[in-house]
Order: sequence, then structure tokens, then C-alpha cells
Amino acid sequence: MPVVYQGACTHCRQPTRALDRAPAVYRADGTVALLPIDAARRAIRRHGFTWRQAAREGRIVRADLTVCRDCGGLHRREQVDDDEAARAARDGGEPTRLASAAPVPIALVAALAVAAASAVALDHPPALAAAAALAAMASVMVAAAFVLTRREPAYAAAALVARRTSATAHRVRALAATRRCGTCGGEHLTPIADAGDDALTRLRCPSCGQRALTLRAAGRA
Ligand SMILES: [Zn+2]
Ligand SMILES: [Zn+2]
Repeated sequence: MPVVYQGACTHCRQPTRALDRAPAVYRADGTVALLPIDAARRAIRRHGFTWRQAAREGRIVRADLTVCRDCGGLHRREQVDDDEAARAARDGGEPTRLASAAPVPIALVAALAVAAASAVALDHPPALAAAAALAAMASVMVAAAFVLTRREPAYAAAALVARRTSATAHRVRALAATRRCGTCGGEHLTPIADAGDDALTRLRCPSCGQRALTLRAAGRA
């Protein structure tokens, strides 16, 4: 849950209200739009994407409110949300779904082969052949499930890297510009949640530009 910061400027009396972090979407035109916390998945459709589609394309952006230690300005630092991209890669990959179904035909073929070998070549009773077939099927499925569940995170990570190196690479680069203060260009940005009360006095007021704004955490959004 994001934290709400509130305060007022002693110079122009304008109130300021801001969230420490917010979800945002990187739009087709290269601009970033903040989304409402409580309705982000619905609101993102207005920008032409579903949440899952945007996540898989590396368009879900995390916007963190920071305080510039050089000029006292408030500044949104934006970066591609890797957690959302990884989750979408893990949940939505067709190769993962195909791979999950693979143990079934493999186990059936193995079971039939064992049953045929037991019953015909060794002349075992049918019950023993069936038991051997079931044991073979169970061991193949357990082994395959074990291998696949261990490989899925690696698959998701590989998919994320592949996307990162192609479609989202330019978005990551474009957002890197927000690591500098939008007012003075300085690089000394502190997330507002880590800033401490002393750093939240004499902030630069977004309305009048004077260093006369004090903010305080006022609750959860
Ligand atoms: Zn600055
Ligand atoms: Zn002001």
C-alpha cells in the first residue's frame, strides 16, 4: 500500500498531496501515464493495453517519488517493473503450457512398453504386468514433473531476458533519464520513504518554486 504525503507551502499556501509510489504505463507514444492505485488494471485499458499484455512487453512502470538532495525538488523516478514482467513471462508462456502436458504421453508409452515386455517376453501373469506398467507410468510422471517445475523459472527468466534485449531495451534506456532530477539535473535522489522528517522540510513547492514546503506521511492510499 502506497503512503500518502501531505503538506502546505508557507509561501503561497498551496497544499501538496503525493503518493510515495504509483503504477504507471509506458504508452505507445513514448510518454508515461500514472495509473490510479485502486483501479490500475481497468484504467490501463484506456491507454490501449491489457495489464498482462503491457507487463509482457515491459510497459508496466514503477514510479517512485524522490526528494532531490541538491535542490529540494520532488521528482518521479520511473523504471520498468521487473517483477510484473517476470510474473507475466511465468504465467503467460505457451511453451510452458505445452511442456506441462508432455509427461502424459511419455508416461503412457513407457507403461505400454513395460506391460508388453512383461506379459509377452517374460510370460508373467497379467496382474503383475499391469502393476509393472503402473509403476513405470508413475515414475516417469514424477520425474518429468520434477524436471519441469525446476526448469520453469529458468524458462521465465530466459523469456524476460529475450524481451529485455529486444522490445523493452529502448524503454529501459528512455526511463534511465528519470534517474536525474527534473528541476536541477542532479543525481542525488532519495526515495521519499527513506528521506526522514528533516529532509522533508524546505522542499521546493511545485506551485510557486520556493523552498517553503513541508511534507508529512499522512496514511496509506
Ligand atoms: Zn534537483
Ligand atoms: Zn508555494
